Amino acid sequence: MRHDEKGFTAASLDQARITGGFWEAWQRTNREVTIPYVLDKCDETGRTQSLRLEWTSDADWQPHQFYDSDLAKALEAASYSLHQYPDAALAERVREYIRLLGRAQQPDGYLNTYYTQTGIEKRWTNLRDMHELYCAGHLFEAAVAHFRATGERSLLDIAVRYADHIDARFGPAETKAPDGTPKEPGYPGHEEIELALVKLADATGERRYLELARFFVDARGHEPHYFRVEAERRGEPSDRWQWERGYHLGEFAYYQAHEPVRDQTAAEGHSVRACYLFAGMVDVAVSTGDERLLDSCRTLFTNIATRRMYVTGGVGSHSHGERFTVDYDLPNESAYAETCAAIALVFFASRLVNAELDGRYADVMERALYNGVLGGLSLSGDRFFYANPLAFHPTAPMLPHVRSDAERQPWYGCACCPPNIVRLIASLPGYLYSVNDRTVAVHLYAESSLEVRTDALSGTLTQQTAYPWDGEVTFTWQADSPAAFTLALRIPQWADDYRIVLPESAEAGTDAASPAGTRLERGYLSVERTWNPGDEVRLTLPMRVRRTRSNAAVRQDGWRVALERGPLVYCAEEVDNGPQLATLALPADAAIAAEHRSDLLGGCTVLRGDAVRSVVGPYGSETDDAPLYTEAGRRERVAFTAVPYALRNNRGTGEMRVWMAEL
Ligand SMILES: [Zn+2]
Repeated sequence: MRHDEKGFTAASLDQARITGGFWEAWQRTNREVTIPYVLDKCDETGRTQSLRLEWTSDADWQPHQFYDSDLAKALEAASYSLHQYPDAALAERVREYIRLLGRAQQPDGYLNTYYTQTGIEKRWTNLRDMHELYCAGHLFEAAVAHFRATGERSLLDIAVRYADHIDARFGPAETKAPDGTPKEPGYPGHEEIELALVKLADATGERRYLELARFFVDARGHEPHYFRVEAERRGEPSDRWQWERGYHLGEFAYYQAHEPVRDQTAAEGHSVRACYLFAGMVDVAVSTGDERLLDSCRTLFTNIATRRMYVTGGVGSHSHGERFTVDYDLPNESAYAETCAAIALVFFASRLVNAELDGRYADVMERALYNGVLGGLSLSGDRFFYANPLAFHPTAPMLPHVRSDAERQPWYGCACCPPNIVRLIASLPGYLYSVNDRTVAVHLYAESSLEVRTDALSGTLTQQTAYPWDGEVTFTWQADSPAAFTLALRIPQWADDYRIVLPESAEAGTDAASPAGTRLERGYLSVERTWNPGDEVRLTLPMRVRRTRSNAAVRQDGWRVALERGPLVYCAEEVDNGPQLATLALPADAAIAAEHRSDLLGGCTVLRGDAVRSVVGPYGSETDDAPLYTEAGRRERVAFTAVPYALRNNRGTGEMRVWMAEL
């Protein structure tokens, strides 16, 4: 494999599937619990009623400007699930929502139940705040997923009519709609439609949608700012709106519209919007061969990955504006790190992986997936975190600047996260593998299979592993006849002493003496050879416990370590370690052992060792008459247990902490 090869395509749900192990359990819960649960919640909370256009002014619910997106994401998730697990009842339920969508669609293609019920004459008057284009994007993504899953065009046709409506209305100011009206040079306040239009262009072959996506990407940040223009048209102040909404958002940066995207070098503003935009930018860059735009994406990714991302892959450190702040500002207890933002980062990173095979993108994708994303969902599949702080104390929800919940919630008024995590888990097989003409690339390790059907290659690659608990991964190639191709296996940045056993070769390590026909480059080990049916490759990734340190510029993490093993970040919980986790420290020389516990949290590997507890005062810490300050104190050795951060808060609420002091 040459790493300058472009054009990897993510495996489709026709090709890749998860067949067992860690992710199979999550997919099963997703299918059996979470998807129907999220659809039920849409039915119970006004979202489906809104789709039925049932709102009246005396109703006990209100249409909301992004209700449509929640249901669309749930339909997208259901479609991914139907793609791999046929379910007649779910398929019919989805068809019923599609019938309602068809009924709610206006004769000119417009489809937004908020404006249809509250005053359609106001539609398209506030792109900055009202999420119409965002909702449209989610509808397009659902439509493409449903079309690919079922071959049915019902939802795709609705999406095409709506996309044509949008395409006729928005575009460069000098262009005109088919009826001769000049187009509006507007773009969304909440990005998402960009990546969705590229998907729609792909599914329909209609290049106009790709051009519209490129327009939305490039229109932002230019004078005159469209958000200002439309505010003036509404008779609102055009300059001070961000103050009036109670936000100090730094002007257009909140919307990534402070400068043209090609000039942006740091991830700014609302983190979900930013990462959706960046994902769409990669799509546009790859689809149009725009190297300059791709280079901006690389720069923005580097800014996030080296300065603005938690060890969990969470991004958007501040709840105020749900936004990126400044380099190295990564507070733990007040971290926002919205589940959707980690999901959006997975989208961004996975697109870069496909654009140019490079492990630094896949490392971030895996980090976010296993920690920042998965921690948003309970083991039971029906409780959700919105914010994902890296330290929690029961007093946190009482603090005005912290938006943590003490435990995962059954639903949110702003319910963007639950259906988002559902669609990612249902579509996860597509993130494991990519293929091009001569290379099969493996990005994530999970028990799974990949059907490879290209002009040059036909066969099935199976992957057997107990990852992330165990680092042994066995690949088997099954085909009718020998075939020459390159298998590119991601070697995570932490896997410094991986081992690989190839067919008909001795075991070899990572030093320069890699086995003949292999090459480690940019985080991928390429095995280039003629593969015979039944050939096996065994990869062993070192699952040692790692003490990870932050860059010295992260002031919140001085003298602290985060424990990691494989792709998982660990945390201490009160249920295992008692309260006042801040008084615990890990001795630098103390061993920390991994122990698999099949009886705990659905079966997981915990970390155990000794810690030192600082006991303050002669009184104990809980008595009412203990002084607030004292010189008295001592240290005592205590047992210490850490569990995967993603599995936190499944045994009741209590203190939690990722970054531990080290002595
Ligand atoms: Zn969210």
